[in-house]
Amino acid sequence: MLLRYLTAVNRGFYSARPMNAPGSLAQPLRVAIIGSGPAAFYAAEHLLKQEGRPVSVDMIDRLPTPYGLVRGGVAPDHLKIKTVIAIYEKAALNPAFRFFGNVEFGKHITRADLERHFHAVIYATGAPSDRRLGVPGEDLQGSHSATEFVAWYNGHPDFSDRQFDLSAERVAVIGMGNVAIDVARILCLGPGEFKDTDMADHAIAALSASRVREVCIFGRRGPVQAAFTTNEVRELGEMVDADVVVRPEEAVLDALSLAELEAARATTRAKVEIVQGYAKRPLSGKRRQLHLRFMRSPLEIRGDARGHVSSLELGVNRLVRNAADAVVTEATGERETYGAQLVFRSVGYRGVALNDVPFDERSGLIPNLKGRVLAAPGGAPLAGHYASGWIKRGPTGVIGNNKADSVETVNLMMEDLAAGSLPAPPEPDAARFDAFVRGKQGTVVTFADWQKLDRIELDRGRATGRPRVKFTSVDEMLAALRPS
Ligand code: NAP
Repeated sequence: MLLRYLTAVNRGFYSARPMNAPGSLAQPLRVAIIGSGPAAFYAAEHLLKQEGRPVSVDMIDRLPTPYGLVRGGVAPDHLKIKTVIAIYEKAALNPAFRFFGNVEFGKHITRADLERHFHAVIYATGAPSDRRLGVPGEDLQGSHSATEFVAWYNGHPDFSDRQFDLSAERVAVIGMGNVAIDVARILCLGPGEFKDTDMADHAIAALSASRVREVCIFGRRGPVQAAFTTNEVRELGEMVDADVVVRPEEAVLDALSLAELEAARATTRAKVEIVQGYAKRPLSGKRRQLHLRFMRSPLEIRGDARGHVSSLELGVNRLVRNAADAVVTEATGERETYGAQLVFRSVGYRGVALNDVPFDERSGLIPNLKGRVLAAPGGAPLAGHYASGWIKRGPTGVIGNNKADSVETVNLMMEDLAAGSLPAPPEPDAARFDAFVRGKQGTVVTFADWQKLDRIELDRGRATGRPRVKFTSVDEMLAALRPS
């Protein structure tokens, strides 16, 4: 840090700046980041790399565990994707970084508290809720959002006690994005496959006893427009316990899809070829089947006398080009019924409002301009407040997309710092903030504490021949951290 400072001084970086200006050695720029998922860590990483501008980062998460969707969203059989954590760990081990886990924004600390202690705040709280379908029967027993199911099998403490009726033989998944693919693939895992996952123990027990025989994913458009990506749909063809089924007539492309495919990237062409390959593939007699059904929109989820899901009513679509030149669906008027005892709605995540922070109910986002938070949609910037990741741009893209997103936000913050437009907080002092938080929450979990939990989880995994055995309750985590 000192070397960097001296280098900057040699370049004259500090020559026109007072010694205690924010971003100086005497007064590092104090930044709070709310959330600890990929967007939060990419923002921290970029902040801590600022040449000649000392920054100190306090990352705050309501869970004792960091990494957001990398821990609670990425599928438990996709361990390779989770190796991205090594980059986040490196940022976390920087002496100018602190983690305040088990601290909830809106409960233990407020926006006013942050404005007292920090020059800038980045909200990187993601999109923890789900979009509604808006069809009758959505709240019947046995109808769940995919987000709940994903959080449950990944051991998120808020979802550990959820129940999913896996005595169902037929399951419908509505929506055709990568989350739908994850949910369907996890439902099809065979008995020998759980040992290679970091799935929560409760989910392994329930899924091992599952009676599911058929999982059907319904997309409202065709294979060209399907939101899933090439690798994810290819992986379905490698399932040990389930055959993939595509109806040949649904793999045939209409004129609009053919035109779109012509102009599409090679990955889209590969994706369509994979789907068409499934349509030609004979069944191999595996225990389960995973069906991909195209051009079907949900109209209603129907229930039995007990109020439990019994079927899904679907409308058949055709594709048309709308006034904005987009390929959209039009109902043909034809309907069909799919008998299912369990339904997962997987039509996208949605952001959740934070106390006292502007929120656009329509989009489910914090209103912002490239990451600068606005007082209202289209309104004036709120000095010192920034957003990054899904709460900034919406729930799209893979983990890596959050890097450019967070870099953009941090670069704007640095412009604001250089322009002198960041607010001057009355107490921009690391020790005072630490004392303040601990006065509000007696059980703050530091990064060192998390490292201890991490080691225990890995040790428990080694003892059982699995990559990791997760803690799934906050009490359990805090108990493991208490001195014995
Ligand atoms: P998504 O990719 O936005 O997919 C949402 C799906 O829901 C689309 O098929 C969409 O259809 C459909 N849908 C939306 N409204 C609907 C309605 N009213 N009726 C029927 N269908 C409807 O969202 P996601 O699957 O939740 O994924 C979120 C992000 O995380 C994506 O960027 C995804 O790639 C990423 N992710 C990546 C991985 C991975 O890399 N392995 C894993 C999981 C998630 P239309 O296309 O017709 O709108």
